[in-house]
Amino acid sequence: MNEHTLIRLPGLGCEHYRQSRCFYAEHLNPGYEERHRCPIVVRWADRLEDFYLRAEAMGLEEERLKPLWEARSRDMLPEMRRCRWFVSGSHLLGCANLHELLCLQALPVCQGRCSHYRLAKGEDQHDAT
Ligand code: SF4
Ligand code: SF4
Repeated sequence: MNEHTLIRLPGLGCEHYRQSRCFYAEHLNPGYEERHRCPIVVRWADRLEDFYLRAEAMGLEEERLKPLWEARSRDMLPEMRRCRWFVSGSHLLGCANLHELLCLQALPVCQGRCSHYRLAKGEDQHDAT
């Protein structure tokens, strides 16, 4: 590092900052970047949709669908555990990297305060210290 190197302030407190990752692109165009999504959850969401469409066509009643889908869903966790980025967490689906349909590992790392930095609501007092 030489005397002219600029060091950015950390992005902490930015409304786009989550667990060291930058959600700016997602906040701008939610769901647009396919590469930010967890492929396993996306696949399962598609399967769920297919499942309901077929069940509807077969005239199955809702109370019969729930246990059928739950039995099939048990296979999702082992599939997630095979992901190289999987981190065991308290999330309903088991992976700590899952944020709705997004994978934290697939989102860009915050490189420090940039031109998109916006102070998150409720962070002003904290920031002033
Ligand atoms: S780390 Fe978790 S959320 Fe990310 S792709 Fe793997 S299973 Fe999905
Ligand atoms: S400071 Fe910039 S890079 Fe960091 S989270 Fe905010 S918008 Fe993203």
